[in-house]
Amino acid sequence: MKKRSVRELDLPGKRVLVRVDFNVPVKDGRVTDDTRIRRAIPTIRYLLSEGARPILISHLGRPKGEPDPKYSMDPVSRSLGELLELQVLKLDAAVGPEVEEALDDWDGQGVALLENSRFYPGETENDPELSGQLARLADLYVNDAFGAAHRAHATTVGVAELLPPAAGLLMEEELDNLERVLREPERPLVAILGGAKVSDKLGVIESLLGAADTILIGGAMCFTFFKAKGYEVGQSLVEDDYLDEARWLMEEAGDRLVLPIDVVVADRMAEDADSRAVEVDRIPNDHMGLDISLGTVGIFRGHIERARTVFWNGPMGVFEMEAFARGTEDVARAVAESEAMSVVGGGDSVAAVEKLGLGDRMGFISTGGGASLEYIEGRELPGVAVLPDGKGGA
Ligand code: ADP
Ligand code: MG
Repeated sequence: MKKRSVRELDLPGKRVLVRVDFNVPVKDGRVTDDTRIRRAIPTIRYLLSEGARPILISHLGRPKGEPDPKYSMDPVSRSLGELLELQVLKLDAAVGPEVEEALDDWDGQGVALLENSRFYPGETENDPELSGQLARLADLYVNDAFGAAHRAHATTVGVAELLPPAAGLLMEEELDNLERVLREPERPLVAILGGAKVSDKLGVIESLLGAADTILIGGAMCFTFFKAKGYEVGQSLVEDDYLDEARWLMEEAGDRLVLPIDVVVADRMAEDADSRAVEVDRIPNDHMGLDISLGTVGIFRGHIERARTVFWNGPMGVFEMEAFARGTEDVARAVAESEAMSVVGGGDSVAAVEKLGLGDRMGFISTGGGASLEYIEGRELPGVAVLPDGKGGA
């Protein structure tokens, strides 16, 4: 069942509180990556075209429940104004009489942007009082912040219980694409999983076992699997507490779980480290595995070429260092070139794809790092659960 969409709301003349994900990187008072702001633009433009008045709210960084100029939304406001080419009424608080007054006096041109929701301890506590104050500011509520939907906060859940709620266009797109991976994907569905820790991704692997035809494993997590198989992994990152789980997953998955055949090892994690490619059962004791190597890339590419749907989470190596970025780059290119519908989720994986300039060539790039993983795990996201079903059918 689809969630009620912003397109189902009666919008003309209404004030709409929109929870957006403007949690962007800021340096020296400037937004250094405006991707998340851009992704919220369609919903904002839609609201404006329908004659509604968008009042935007987001968290930014991790202030400690009190105002902190370091985490002010001012830089976001400037960036948003440039992108929209519209006036932004930036308020210096998120709630309270002054905000209410300013919104009453607002001429309704452009959009309003409230201050950082995490300047209030009630945000993360989902405090009814804060939710109530937020609800006084608007007639309707739209959640377009998929990246925050896995948290039960005042701006994602509390206020959604007080105002008529709906999903924004980006939220809808996120849900549609992740749903497409989990339910009735075009087959074969190939999942590519990497990143640092198996423990972060166990739930995801388990859930994908039920959905994917093939699961390709790269990144540091492969070494926990190799150790579970009895290989020597040298100084590679291993989670010893998860060896049993790794063994169980390999048994369950059989040959659907594909591990690397060769890896790039180095004597330390540094650009100028002494590195070379070895087969996975030949990792020297004093070396660590930091990337997948060419034989593995060839096998992975074969699976990706035959796929009709690809879900990718987690880099194949320490892509932040050029010396260990090749595996991630080659896999990213293979996904970009494949005919498959591709969905990329996870903060670092998305960063890697964007850094390579391949963002436009992926089917869908999820804005929700942790949220997209929890969704794939099959967990209910509080910020999604609180939205009612729509009229649109399945
Ligand atoms: P995502 O944010 O896409 O979900 P993760 O946060 O799980 O991805 O993992 C990303 C991190 O994993 C990167 O910082 C990368 O350097 C690290 N990583 C990948 N492969 C290895 C490896 N072989 N050894 C150590 N760290 C690795
Ligand atoms: Mg990460």
